[in-house]
Amino acid sequence: MSIANASDSLDVLIIGGGIAGASLGALLAGERSVLIIEAEDLCGRHATGRSAAFWQASLGGDTPERRLSLLSKPMFDARWPGSDVPLLRPRGALHLTSAGMDNFEEIGDLSGDDRPKRLDRTELDGKIDGLREQWTGAWFERSCADIEVAAFHAACLAAFRRGEALSGRTQASSVPRSFPGLGC
Ligand SMILES: Cc1cc2nc3c(=O)[nH]c(=O)nc-3n(C[C@H](O)[C@H](O)[C@H](O)COP(=O)(O)OP(=O)(O)OC[C@H]3O[C@@H](n4cnc5c(N)ncnc54)[C@H](O)[C@@H]3O)c2cc1C
Repeated sequence: MSIANASDSLDVLIIGGGIAGASLGALLAGERSVLIIEAEDLCGRHATGRSAAFWQASLGGDTPERRLSLLSKPMFDARWPGSDVPLLRPRGALHLTSAGMDNFEEIGDLSGDDRPKRLDRTELDGKIDGLREQWTGAWFERSCADIEVAAFHAACLAAFRRGEALSGRTQASSVPRSFPGLGC
């Protein structure tokens, strides 16, 4: 099927099948007629395929990005939208500090395991051997986790495909009104 044939019945056209487009597609596919178009031969070639894959509650300070990260946690814990494997793997993180630079200025209203906990040098030595003297302590962020990006992305695309059965490859800039083909 081509976009030209599909476009009359489409509610939503998503440009790009990275994690943003794939997750939006998964969310909408059962409710709307949705198409994702992707310029590459695979949907994970760009930022999604290069992520360091880390989930960190404190990242970004007290910003909308942090609030979005916090909102994503229950979704990952529930393996949305149908992953066979857990989407977060607990790891924890240590933010090392030196003398006179031991504030954690972006704690804001983080609570529970998301709230960084101060460790002095003795406690730090209990976690890591052989640290240089310059590190006087650390902030321990227990809830940090590895994100299973590939599994999440694959689950989103699978959920999307359960609602749409279209395949091919198209660059959006080349198809502003009359669509010669389609992707993802
Ligand atoms: C090095 C690195 C490390 C990162 N580490 C982390 C991390 O630890 N934790 C974290 O949460 N985030 C991390 N990120 C950020 C995260 O990877 C991105 O925010 C996320 O992958 C963005 O997804 P996206 O779908 O918006 O973009 P992309 O994955 O880039 O997807 C966009 C897609 O759109 C397609 N496209 C573009 N233009 C067109 C067009 N005209 N027509 C058709 N298709 C088009 C592209 O081919 C691409 O597939 C990292 C990013 C990078 C680069």
